[in-house]
Amino acid sequence: MKNYYSILGVTPDSSNAEIKLAYRKLARKYHPDVNPQGAEMFKDISEAYATLSDAKKRLQYDTINGFFKSNTKTEQKTSAKKAQSEYKKTQTTEKKTHSDINKKTKEEFSKKINEMFEEFGKKSKPVPKRGTDIYEEITLTVNDCITGCERIINVLHTAQCPHCKGRKFINGTKCPKCNGTGEKSEHRKITVKIPQNIKNGTKLRIPQEGNTGENGGKNGDLYLKIKIEPDKNSKIENMTYNVPISPYEAVLGCNISIPVSDGNISLKIPPKTHTGQKFRLAGQGVNKNGKSGDLIVIVHIEIPSVLSDDEIKLYEKLKKLSSQNIRENIWLK
Ligand SMILES: [Zn+2]
Repeated sequence: MKNYYSILGVTPDSSNAEIKLAYRKLARKYHPDVNPQGAEMFKDISEAYATLSDAKKRLQYDTINGFFKSNTKTEQKTSAKKAQSEYKKTQTTEKKTHSDINKKTKEEFSKKINEMFEEFGKKSKPVPKRGTDIYEEITLTVNDCITGCERIINVLHTAQCPHCKGRKFINGTKCPKCNGTGEKSEHRKITVKIPQNIKNGTKLRIPQEGNTGENGGKNGDLYLKIKIEPDKNSKIENMTYNVPISPYEAVLGCNISIPVSDGNISLKIPPKTHTGQKFRLAGQGVNKNGKSGDLIVIVHIEIPSVLSDDEIKLYEKLKKLSSQNIRENIWLK
């Protein structure tokens, strides 16, 4: 690869006018009419100018060789100087590879250019891309879960390499910072506050702590799955709640509110529920003694202590309507 920017003593940031000016100065100096030893050099200068002065050719050349504009003016100045000082070095080393390049058939070369150009076209629209989410697991003791705690966790983030901006190559050479992967991986310490009475299996979402977004896209989120470490010193016990329901709730079904460690959950009692029927709420049995297990809800049909005359009348009506003898089969066993 010939570094056309070095040859002309300009940088990828240089404008068309600057390139033209640089070419004119060098052409005057090395034109074979003026300088008989400048023939080879003049050829290089002309070749470089032919590419860099044509917007389309320049873009293709930049794409293939990984040249891109820097954003700061200071960088521009220093790289311009550097390019000029490297000019002579390039001149001698490039000569060796010159003949090799010429061996490549033009067709092959233009095909490669077209392919890369198409690819570049796809990538060139900087669509903001949201960073991906990160999923991690965090193990807590039962006690941590009951009291709540703060944890510092180490999360591996991957982001676009800031040095080459994900392009993998810089000015024709493999990016030294990411070794040509275009990505940067780093461990980031994140402080997470675990709320009180957190349940096993809960997914905590920590917004924007996932992988970094690209082209101004938002960061992904970090999801932390809570895993409660079994307490080896105590047997896991299930907790039991005895919950009363009224006769009509047992017949018609209902939703009842069950107090659990982190609030209330609604338990659906299906129609025609019997007294003594058990409902298991998995993982809800973390109690203050540091034991975790399931919560078993046992329902009992209870007669309300206060019944109005109207209610009694309705029960009498129900008695007349009932056709099945509920005890007809119990003596047969
Ligand atoms: Zn890089």
